[in-house]
Amino acid sequence: MFSQFALHERLLKAVAELKFVEPTPVQAAAIPLALQGRDLRVTAQTGSGKTAAFVLPILNRLIGPAKIRVSIKTLILLPTRELAQQTLKEVERFAQFTFIKSGLITGGEDFKVQAAMLRKVPDILIGTPGRMIEQLNAGNLDLKEVEVLVLDEADRMLDMGFAEDVQRLVDECVNRQQTMLFSATTGGSGLREMIAKVLNNPEHLQLNAVSQLNSTTRQQIITADHNQHKEQIVNWLLANETYQKAIIFTNTRAMADRIYGRLVAQEYKAFVLHGEKDQKDRKLAIDRLKQGGVKILVATDVAARGLDVDGLDMVINFDMPRSGDEYVHRIGRTGRAGNDGLAISLICHGDWNLMSSIERYLKQSFERRTVKEVKGTYGGPKKVKASGKAVGVKKKKTDVKGDKKKTAAKTPTKRKSANRPKPDSLVSSDGMAPLKRRKPAEPAAE
Ligand code: AMP
Repeated sequence: MFSQFALHERLLKAVAELKFVEPTPVQAAAIPLALQGRDLRVTAQTGSGKTAAFVLPILNRLIGPAKIRVSIKTLILLPTRELAQQTLKEVERFAQFTFIKSGLITGGEDFKVQAAMLRKVPDILIGTPGRMIEQLNAGNLDLKEVEVLVLDEADRMLDMGFAEDVQRLVDECVNRQQTMLFSATTGGSGLREMIAKVLNNPEHLQLNAVSQLNSTTRQQIITADHNQHKEQIVNWLLANETYQKAIIFTNTRAMADRIYGRLVAQEYKAFVLHGEKDQKDRKLAIDRLKQGGVKILVATDVAARGLDVDGLDMVINFDMPRSGDEYVHRIGRTGRAGNDGLAISLICHGDWNLMSSIERYLKQSFERRTVKEVKGTYGGPKKVKASGKAVGVKKKKTDVKGDKKKTAAKTPTKRKSANRPKPDSLVSSDGMAPLKRRKPAEPAAE
């Protein structure tokens, strides 16, 4: 029950209005500490309810009678526009019975309109680092009186090259009293450096031991012979599975476009999102998906960042993601806040070792599924090592172009898959450390 927290009655009223009954684990762990003013480092994924975990204590601190606003009291930095917009909505929903005002600063929106908003001085400012810096440089932004700073999806901000911008904005908040840093992963040295610099004796809450992720999401694999066969399986799944909305992940823009084209040709209501799409397309895709006009989204990882869409209950990994963390992010799109979800990864010969590395990383075994209507010949390696990887298999021709013959997997070739990291680089010897290779903001292959 949310009444267990020492939250103002107006906030509890909003919580009840939103029909939140039970706090999620991250809320139960973080809210009491945040209310005490502690610095927090929270490892929790999108979908865990982490936004409310920091928003409610912030609002509780700011709550009071209407007053003339003289300074921004809270700054929330996030990696993407969509995430910033979603967070603003969440703040507004929780603040509906208070006089607290919030504002949004992201790229892709009118600079002057934002400057005018800043002149009215919101209590809470939410946004992405790049545009914040531009407003700062233009002399429109004063962060000197910020008391609470939140760095949400800090690992993503670093991945996207925002380290310097974030640090500069942090340095502007000279009078801050509390800092909360959220990340979906335990991150690498960049994140550790940032934590050491910005947090003061933080409490570390680790909510997503990866093995506990998405207990409400079934995770399955279906083996496939080649890309054309994967397309057949996708068709079968879309036609036969029960789902409200589905997302199909690919590793490349070209493959996303190709699958999208096929779906549209079959008169599916679909949308494609990848790094080449501009902000307008992204907004449109997400709006349509939210409103239900579009049921299927084909996306690359970068494009899907920060996506929070109700009813997204099926994730199909057309390509296996290149790292365990990326897998966790993709699957985090479904099974949100206790809803059931289904995640299906399509595994060709060339995906097998990557898949088994991810299983070890997650300390989980994916359910093997066969669909007899579209069953192929490949069913996994003949022999596997204790690690789950294939025994003694030389690099074989992968199916970048969608091989025509089912026997392709049996044809040895020297060509290496251009985009995949070697599976061995994926997991450290203890099987748990974050993966060595951090993915660049937009994969080079896209
Ligand atoms: P987040 O991880 O903050 O992006 O939250 C994911 C989704 O779960 C959002 O749509 C929230 O509104 C919703 N949510 C968060 N906390 C709860 C809760 N305690 N009960 C029900 N839904 C929640």
